Amino acid sequence: MAKARVERELDLRKPVTVWRSQDLLDGRPAESLTMILRTVGCRWNRCTMCGFAGEGAPAGAEDLIAQFENALERSSPEVTVVKIYTSGSFLDPAEMPVSARDEILKRLAALGIKKLVIETRPEYVTPETIEICLTHLPTEFAIGLETASDLIRENVIRKGFLFQDFASATEVVHRQGGRVKTYLLLKPPLLSEGLAMRDAIDSARRARGFADVLSLNLCNVQRNTVVERMWKRGEFRPPWLWSALEVLKSVPGPIVCDPVGAGTRRGPHNCGQCDDAVAEAIRTHALSQDVEPFHSLDCECRSTWRDLIELEEDAFGAAFI
Ligand code: SF4
Ligand SMILES: [Zn+2]
Repeated sequence: MAKARVERELDLRKPVTVWRSQDLLDGRPAESLTMILRTVGCRWNRCTMCGFAGEGAPAGAEDLIAQFENALERSSPEVTVVKIYTSGSFLDPAEMPVSARDEILKRLAALGIKKLVIETRPEYVTPETIEICLTHLPTEFAIGLETASDLIRENVIRKGFLFQDFASATEVVHRQGGRVKTYLLLKPPLLSEGLAMRDAIDSARRARGFADVLSLNLCNVQRNTVVERMWKRGEFRPPWLWSALEVLKSVPGPIVCDPVGAGTRRGPHNCGQCDDAVAEAIRTHALSQDVEPFHSLDCECRSTWRDLIELEEDAFGAAFI
């Protein structure tokens, strides 16, 4: 009954969303088109912060090609970077049927797109899946490592793979000449603000050698997730934007960050007064990679943030809370 209602309400031939923005291409800002395609959803579907489960729908190969074509209508000749997200893994044939994948790759190559970015879990990275993408166009494979700590990834995020699985997948990509983007998560649940910050910095340093670019994701409270249940009970606060600045300042680039939902209760936030300015600085940094402007940002809430970190450490030590 519920499924039938979902199928009636969703237009499987339209993408979830599509937008234009700027991205880095060979170290310079370039016009990009980002589309989120509606697939059956992530096969793993267990991560504690991920609300993509609600976005799945029974989209077949033809639907996905139609969604892609629909999204392309927002493109223009200036677009050189295309990012295709599926709220799961582009390389999982159960999500993105091989016929749709190949058709999409062929179309992008014909359009002369200079860089494609797709997301995938490491288990779908094989010499064959990587080769098929790279024979069509330069591709960046984004993998959600989240943290370099197996303990946190396994028990707190429930990601279901080890650092070694990630490392092996990146080797397959690099051996064939592809690029790797690695997502790191700032502030998984159960970590104090200070520990989350240190974990992200440590993770960035350890993942650095395996990734061409790092992407810092600031934990949002998404619907129907473990994180949302904890947040509603007052057991989770999204990261402070000050913490994000600290991470971006502390690790060698390239590292990008899009502070999605910044300044909202469910998104990363400071005091409400300085959120816009800090979020804007983070967005600018993603293109410039210059940390200098960060040093001139300040607000009264910065000392509150520092005190909170100290208080948490005094109360709980550097461990989980
Ligand atoms: S975070 Fe990624 S791997 Fe985890 S459930 Fe969501 S889409 Fe799947
Ligand atoms: Zn403030």
